[in-house]
Amino acid sequence: MLKVEHLTKMFGGLAAVNDVSVVFEAGKINAIIGPNGAGKSTFFNLISGMHQPTSGRILLDGVDVTRLRCDKVAQLGVGRTFQTTNLFEQATVLDNLIVGHRLRTKSGLWDVLVNSKRLQAEEKASRDKAREALDFVGLSHVENQYIADITQEQRKRVAFALALATDPKIVLLDEPAAGVNPEETEGFAALMKKMVANGLTVCLIEHKMDMIMSLADKIMVLDHGEKIAEGTPEQVRSNPLVIEAYLGS
Ligand code: ADP
Ligand code: MG
Repeated sequence: MLKVEHLTKMFGGLAAVNDVSVVFEAGKINAIIGPNGAGKSTFFNLISGMHQPTSGRILLDGVDVTRLRCDKVAQLGVGRTFQTTNLFEQATVLDNLIVGHRLRTKSGLWDVLVNSKRLQAEEKASRDKAREALDFVGLSHVENQYIADITQEQRKRVAFALALATDPKIVLLDEPAAGVNPEETEGFAALMKKMVANGLTVCLIEHKMDMIMSLADKIMVLDHGEKIAEGTPEQVRSNPLVIEAYLGS
């Protein structure tokens, strides 16, 4: 599904991602863990086309997507959430989804706003996709509420829906359960299992170790931009390098 070869991203003299190669299989929950600043979010930014890699290759179902812009990558089946999601507070949940869908699949704001010829048909398609995604994440009942009026947990679900509305094959989730309580965390775990049951591939950055250990099929561990371990939760948990990265620094 997703194959990354020798991926490197330099920010000035800093290798935020350093020669990382990994394969994430289809239909699985793949997790990325590692200390703060390890390069996890940068890794997602590279895959989703938000940042251009310094070197290396990214293959999606065998297709080279390394130098593609983020709207193209989204169209090819990569959906994502961000560590912090900016939502339009004074717009409804549904309108946020419609705008979000269009922003993610168009190359620029100009495209979104002025391509009037196809606008109506596209707007309907965006609305249908938005509704479908909201139904999937369990938010249909609040589609007409303003973002400012929904709960923190519901905002996180809106972020999931935004990632799903572009019809992805693989979804990249950057700390989706940060700042929610244990019960809500279980709800998010159930949602990820439902994604996989529906044929999606999940790639998850998360700090909640209990969640990762019970949920992930495969874990990659990053530290200072480098892959220091990968394997099943059992393999990773007992790896001395991983223990040192978490306890020794
Ligand atoms: P993580 O998500 O694992 O906490 P990040 O990928 O956000 O880590 O960051 C990895 C490193 O790259 C950090 O040292 C961070 O300061 C740096 N970094 C991330 N994004 C940028 C950027 N746009 N410009 C410069 N440095 C960045
Ligand atoms: Mg991060």
